[in-house]
Amino acid sequence: MLNEPIFLDYAATTPLAPEVAAAMQGWLASGRPYANPASTHVAGRESAAAVAVARDQVARLLNTKPGCLIFTSGATESDNLAIQGAARARAHRGKHLITMPTEHKAVVDTFKALERDGFQVSWLPPAVDGLLGIEDIASAMRTDTQLVSVMHVNNETGVMQNIREIGELCRSRGVLFHTDAAQSVGKVAIDLEEMPIDLLSFTAHKFYGPQGVGGLYIADRPSCKISPILFGGGQERRLRPGTVPVHLVAGLGVAAEGARQQMHTDHERMQILNDRLWNGVRNIAGVTRNGSAPQCYPGILNFSVSGVEGESLMLGMEPVCVASGSACNSVSAESSYVLRGMGRSDLLAQSAVRFSFGRATTEREIDIAIERYRNTVDHLRSIAPPISAAF
Ligand SMILES: *Cc1c(COP(=O)(O)O)cnc(C)c1O
Repeated sequence: MLNEPIFLDYAATTPLAPEVAAAMQGWLASGRPYANPASTHVAGRESAAAVAVARDQVARLLNTKPGCLIFTSGATESDNLAIQGAARARAHRGKHLITMPTEHKAVVDTFKALERDGFQVSWLPPAVDGLLGIEDIASAMRTDTQLVSVMHVNNETGVMQNIREIGELCRSRGVLFHTDAAQSVGKVAIDLEEMPIDLLSFTAHKFYGPQGVGGLYIADRPSCKISPILFGGGQERRLRPGTVPVHLVAGLGVAAEGARQQMHTDHERMQILNDRLWNGVRNIAGVTRNGSAPQCYPGILNFSVSGVEGESLMLGMEPVCVASGSACNSVSAESSYVLRGMGRSDLLAQSAVRFSFGRATTEREIDIAIERYRNTVDHLRSIAPPISAAF
């Protein structure tokens, strides 16, 4: 029983919802008419209809028009398309861009690539609680600023940026606003009809849909024009050429529908689990929360503990599956650049562990995680006293 994995790493990926798997299997089953949705014959029209249903389902989740949504392979591609696409479409007007050092690598490395291509990027750090101040963005803006990209919910800390305020500032200055919403779509209510957002990236596998499919919202405004970064067929308004994968898109649609129906209940449960975990660890000597902004998505909780190394903690806690640093980076021993970007010392960043919960997480699993965490911290401290002297 205790050796069954306890999965507390939902921020890295989520399991498929049963209804999503069923919808996808319907398309994968042999004998099923299966055609390219771009083909105009009757079989193709059936595929195209399924893609249209999925686009409607995502549009309803985000309260937008289906025509504003483009399907991609996931948030990495959507981030690249939004950021490179906006920067290139507006390069004749100016080459200044604004983002944060605590963004996901898909955003950070896209901006770094643009820097190598002659764009200038202002990297605005957040305060110690993880939040970026609106005044900091306002004062970084120049007459040649073309794009601001600030993520909605941070994947390591759960910190939720004030995207409405940032969007309003951008609109008032005629600057495009992109947000990487991979961690919030399907988990936090987003109403694109009333939010001043120009470009929004999301991915199905963070909300119980399949890996390998996601999308980009592009506001229906004349000023919101982006250039493609891939070239080929004319699919997805020529902005994302390539055959649309019907089974993946159908799964994305069903996941969006499920999220729309369950979001409120899911969110309430995340808060209960978050409170339970934090109350179980907060009194351990040397524990500090990473990302203490007033608004956080409660499905993610990240904290450091003095005198212990996160990677050893993570391994010691098995079979409880958590993340140390960023999951995408956990091959490298380097401490989290997100936490260092929030002003955490190298040592404190190295001792961070991220817990993230989902629909199947139980209170009992949280209790086991608390116990494993406490025992592992005690054990590691008892075998390595010299490290704690460094704090
Ligand atoms: C997971 C994630 C991504 C990458 O999404 P993929 O679909 O795996 O490419 C990008 N940004 C954030 C914030 C994420 O959490």
